[in-house]
Amino acid sequence: MATIVLKQGREKSLKRFHPWIFSGAIQKVNGNPAPGESVGILDATGQCLGHGSYSPHSQIRVRALSFDPDQDITPELIHQRIQRAIDGRKHILAGNGPGACRLINAESDGLPGLVVDCYDTFLVIQILAMGMEWWRETIIQTLQTLCPDYSIYERSDSEVRRKEGLDLRTGRITGEEPPDQVTIREDAAAYFVNIKTGHKTGFYLDQRTNRTRVARYAAHAEMLNCFSYTGGFGIMSLVWGAERVINIDASQQALDLASKNAELNDIAPERVNQVQGDVFKLLRTYRDEGRQFDIVVLDPPKFAESKAQMNRACRGYKDINLSALKLIRPGGMLFTFSCSGNIDADLFQKVVAGAAIDARRDVQIVEHLFQSPDHPTSIFFPEGTYLKGLGLRVY
Ligand code: SAH
Repeated sequence: MATIVLKQGREKSLKRFHPWIFSGAIQKVNGNPAPGESVGILDATGQCLGHGSYSPHSQIRVRALSFDPDQDITPELIHQRIQRAIDGRKHILAGNGPGACRLINAESDGLPGLVVDCYDTFLVIQILAMGMEWWRETIIQTLQTLCPDYSIYERSDSEVRRKEGLDLRTGRITGEEPPDQVTIREDAAAYFVNIKTGHKTGFYLDQRTNRTRVARYAAHAEMLNCFSYTGGFGIMSLVWGAERVINIDASQQALDLASKNAELNDIAPERVNQVQGDVFKLLRTYRDEGRQFDIVVLDPPKFAESKAQMNRACRGYKDINLSALKLIRPGGMLFTFSCSGNIDADLFQKVVAGAAIDARRDVQIVEHLFQSPDHPTSIFFPEGTYLKGLGLRVY
């Protein structure tokens, strides 16, 4: 088997079970491993520390799957990891009706670069790294064995594949072709999900438990749901008794599905408005018009794709939070999120505090929010915690 030898001192992160080995940490490669093939990982003295998948085009040159010199990456290991991940979600899937949840969360489930989400009877797989591409057939066979009643669809169309030297791929793998609208239930709401063309694998499952948390405050509320996508927070809040919701999103396609989602939940049309536009601009327009809301939700896309974009991202978060705070009736709530991995919960809280100072509003934190439990973080891989949010009472 081919091996890679680490530079002296660069074995530290591996000894702490962190799976990423960057190209700059590698002294040399012995042998000629194919893209995705397993390699032994040696420290500078030649001692084996574990095994990982080789990815010659990526800055993350090796992703470790095993931290044990005696445990090579085998079909059995892949099977065990998949089984363990699915077992860990059985309590979520056990609910009544067509559920949806993440079954495999990449690095944090010991399968770097592999995402599998479940929507009713469909599994959607997304392969984001060369190593998982190498094991694709094993992954599919294992999923078929462990989940025989499910159809499998592939959404390996994320641009990050290009960094791995992989082309994009989508399509049916086994079972039925998914319809344009798969219906899922989440808490008291139902949603249509388009797993063929929707964002990510179709739906923002990472906000699953937060949609429920927000909705518990929504009885009789007038809500402004910014960056709504297909209505997620708004629909759940209407089901829980919100009086009226405005969903704002840049995507008309997402808003069209939000309208269908309102119908699906028997929401009277006068209780929900879909507004296509730019949140940054619309928040200012609403302020100029003197409009007020009981609850505002801010769930923007990732503003910081890299460390270099952090300052700009913080300015963006401050801007929307400042504008939103001005629209909230005294005693109302702001639910504000960031899914930028580079901006941690502390920094995000500081940015929001800065917005509260400038808005001259008294603000209490009543909820600290994170991604749903079906998106766990390995304790050795803190990068896995990317979504953070605050539920704020605004006076
Ligand atoms: N809260 C949603 C997920 C939001 S994802 C849920 O629970 O399902 C972020 C959304 O922001 C995407 O739908 C994207 O179309 C939208 N978006 C991105 N930039 C925007 C902008 N400047 N103004 C309005 N919407 C924007």
